[in-house]
Amino acid sequence: MDTVVSKTEKKTGSRPGTLAACPVTHLKGIGNKTAEKLKRLGIATVQDVLFHLPLRYEDRTRITPIGSLQPFEPAVVEGIVELADIKFGRRRMLLCRISDGTGFITLRFFHFSAVQKEGLARGRRIRCYGEVRNGPQSLEIVHPEYSFVEENETMPVEETLTPIYPATEGVHQLTLRTLTDNALVLMQEMPLQELLPAALCKRLSFPDLHEAINWIHRPPNDVSISMLMDEKHPAKQRLVFEELLAHQISMKQLRQRARKHHAPVIKEKNRLEAKLLETLPFVLTKAQQKVIGEIKDDLAKSFPMQRLVQGDVGCGKTLVAVMAALSVVEAGMQAAVMAPTEILSEQHFNNFCQWLQPLGIHITWLTGKQKVAERRQAQEEIVTGKAQIVVGTHALFQEDVSFNNLGLIVIDEQHRFGVHQRMALREKGKNGQQYPHQLIMTATPIPRTLAMTAYADLDVSVIDELPPGRKEVETIVVSNDRRDEIVARVHHACKEGRQAYWVCSLIEESEALQCQAASDTAVLLQDCLPKLKVGLIHGRMKPNDKEQVMSAFKQGEIDLLVATTVIEVGVDVPNASLMVVENSERFGLAQLHQLRGRVGRGSEKSSCVLMYQAPLSENSRTRLAVMRETSDGFKIAQRDLEIRGPGEVLGTRQTGMMQFHIADLIRDQALIPDANKTSEELLAQYPENAGLIVRRWLGETEKYGNVG
Ligand code: ADP
Ligand code: MG
Repeated sequence: MDTVVSKTEKKTGSRPGTLAACPVTHLKGIGNKTAEKLKRLGIATVQDVLFHLPLRYEDRTRITPIGSLQPFEPAVVEGIVELADIKFGRRRMLLCRISDGTGFITLRFFHFSAVQKEGLARGRRIRCYGEVRNGPQSLEIVHPEYSFVEENETMPVEETLTPIYPATEGVHQLTLRTLTDNALVLMQEMPLQELLPAALCKRLSFPDLHEAINWIHRPPNDVSISMLMDEKHPAKQRLVFEELLAHQISMKQLRQRARKHHAPVIKEKNRLEAKLLETLPFVLTKAQQKVIGEIKDDLAKSFPMQRLVQGDVGCGKTLVAVMAALSVVEAGMQAAVMAPTEILSEQHFNNFCQWLQPLGIHITWLTGKQKVAERRQAQEEIVTGKAQIVVGTHALFQEDVSFNNLGLIVIDEQHRFGVHQRMALREKGKNGQQYPHQLIMTATPIPRTLAMTAYADLDVSVIDELPPGRKEVETIVVSNDRRDEIVARVHHACKEGRQAYWVCSLIEESEALQCQAASDTAVLLQDCLPKLKVGLIHGRMKPNDKEQVMSAFKQGEIDLLVATTVIEVGVDVPNASLMVVENSERFGLAQLHQLRGRVGRGSEKSSCVLMYQAPLSENSRTRLAVMRETSDGFKIAQRDLEIRGPGEVLGTRQTGMMQFHIADLIRDQALIPDANKTSEELLAQYPENAGLIVRRWLGETEKYGNVG
């Protein structure tokens, strides 16, 4: 034991009680300087060393004869240097040839020192490790790791697979390996604390923590790399589970903390609501009523609501937001509604005006693209409280905007915001000691297990029903070659008095080129369809022009609307029954689902034509097949997740904070419900352990909790 701890400790004999409290400097060879560097890896204690897990493993357990090397495989080889020369080509490089009697191989270095070249003298024996590949003359290894084998020396090969750790400048693999070696020895004397309930470990057949930690750092001889990377091994499962659990707990702590904040208690009077319901041409769906009820319960509490409403496109989320805003307005406070795009904010503004102005409610619109005078007026209305409801884009939460008494923030299409933005918004709306309630609405359904993780700090409501009378949208997948047929189809639909969208491809990288492509398409289509009125809308148009085009389309003055993806979210024109998407293979599933959701909103049978450019990749083929098979947003989201992974689905902002060491939200989905349940249990029954698990996996720095 004495060989693994530092001299000072041996001298003083002092020893901290637990590995969690034992600083790394207690380990042999770790001075303050290295300790400082280790901090960059999030390592401060011996426990942190043990939870600094390998990224991957390398097999250095045997030497491969050069003659039997295979390209693309990493290998250890040993041989005699035959020559080492600097070659001056387009890049200066050092080429070294070694042979072992079975063959020869070239080592190629782009970065090297004079000393290094000197060292690789003819006749010396070296051992190297790296990935073998085909070179111009022979097999080669670029930048191998190597060391010299002295004469008469036998250098043993590694006995176990070599773990490769996340490293940082000045802390290399060798240091990390020695460090873990020592920490693993110390662990025998000073055990890690078991933080999982025993019953759970038994039910899930988890091995004990020491066994799992040993296994992952120093895999036994009979374990292969594929077994290590595979998650089925109980040791790995156990660690993955703990990591998922740590994230769950930490998000829930965030939520508990938010519940300590104060928020205005909004008790229902419902006079305004009753008035609005009278004027609506339809009745609320059961799902809408249920969710509105959940929201009202939240508003009546003295801490801020943090509710996410999930619902497929067209389920009527806007009206739910309107009802929430009404309660707040009736209580004499302001509501702010934030949309992700100008167009959408405008549409919300129009909807809110149409529904609420007859009730005498003043609604103000604020966006970043307004003229100075308009904006100033809007700001004035917001600060004086004349604006009872404010609709806008991100501009709502810029510094020059201050609210009079904000009671509710509604964020629409929230998949574009991450947990930090949610918290920043809450701060921004703070009024004295009071925080506004927060309602978040998303049309991108997220699979349940992922929602449990990404939104563990929120309460979730689901609108699981569409208004009656909606007809399934027929989806057709056709090659671009059949464009003429599609144009004829558009003609036919419009002649019957219906309207159509034509969404242009994402071929061009730049927005400008994309808008140009849409303009060209509009001209072409107008030529083919001289009797129809073809309109154009894209992201580079002035807000006023966009508004005019959109309202002309709504009024039915435009038959066919050519668009870039600006119409992706939220646009609502019930008479439009045909959607054509060009080069649909370039869109993601969520995006296609959103686009298709623009039709099927009226009583007419609608269709969506997904055009593609052949040949299709395997991945695109799968995506388009999914679109044809189902219109269920939740199913599509699940497939999307499988195809693209959580980072893409949730956006980097969402997942930037969800960096896991070894867990993987897709692969390990099956563990998430258990982790979720266990997090509740621990927080309720063993809050201390819950905190220790978070500390163990997420470190000292409060990852999520910096704001609020
Ligand atoms: P989304 O959930 O995609 O935001 P919207 O709020 O835009 O959906 O609603 C889609 C359409 O359905 C709108 O035209 C809206 O007026 C209409 N709508 C909302 N609720 C109902 C209902 N209960 N019955 C009939 N139509 C409804
Ligand atoms: Mg919407």
